[in-house]
Amino acid sequence: MHTATPSTSSSIRRQRASSRGSAALVVVLAVLAVLAALVAAPDRAQAQVAPGGAPGVTVAAPQTAAARAASPVEPFASYEPQTGCTSRIMPGTRAYADQLTGRYGSRIIGITRACSSGGRSEHKESRAIDWAIDARNAGQRQVFYRYLTELLATDSSGAFAARARRMGVMYVIWNDRIWASWNGFQVRPYLHANCTAVATCSPTLRHVDHAHVSLSWAGARGTTSWYTG
Ligand SMILES: [Zn+2]
Repeated sequence: MHTATPSTSSSIRRQRASSRGSAALVVVLAVLAVLAALVAAPDRAQAQVAPGGAPGVTVAAPQTAAARAASPVEPFASYEPQTGCTSRIMPGTRAYADQLTGRYGSRIIGITRACSSGGRSEHKESRAIDWAIDARNAGQRQVFYRYLTELLATDSSGAFAARARRMGVMYVIWNDRIWASWNGFQVRPYLHANCTAVATCSPTLRHVDHAHVSLSWAGARGTTSWYTG
């Protein structure tokens, strides 16, 4: 499910073939990239300790649009399943929840979850957010689609889903559907593991009465380019 697509592999092969004749140029570019990273490093370190977000957390304040545009967009987050458990809310998770309610309204109905409760879930690692947006309500549907449209919009550099990638969104589930980073955020049908059919699945497990957002570890820690530039 998470392997590279054939088109990606052939693209890489083409890139390798075309680069054989210009190895010297590649070396020069690599040296320049290292030098550029060294020059940029102090700025990033400063941004990471800048105050911001909710009281008691140390996530950097979101960068300005201009600063963000200067840094490359991250690749699509890979799937990082829950393996541990913590009740401490991660700073990036808090920042993501705050921008959800601040920008789109409604309320957060869950972030952390007891270690002993149910199956595998990023909620147990404070990397997931349940946001009260009901698909049965026309106004709330509009709010969700405004959120999704902005999340997956292509930015001025041509990067699809730039906001999702910069904020470390791993997947969104809502109204029997999932938009997952490892599928390039293409919409897929969703059925909870505890359900055998949509018709007999509860509105909550179908995510009809709320949206679920899972973040990568970098997103949950607030170390993605959305925060650090
Ligand atoms: Zn959830």
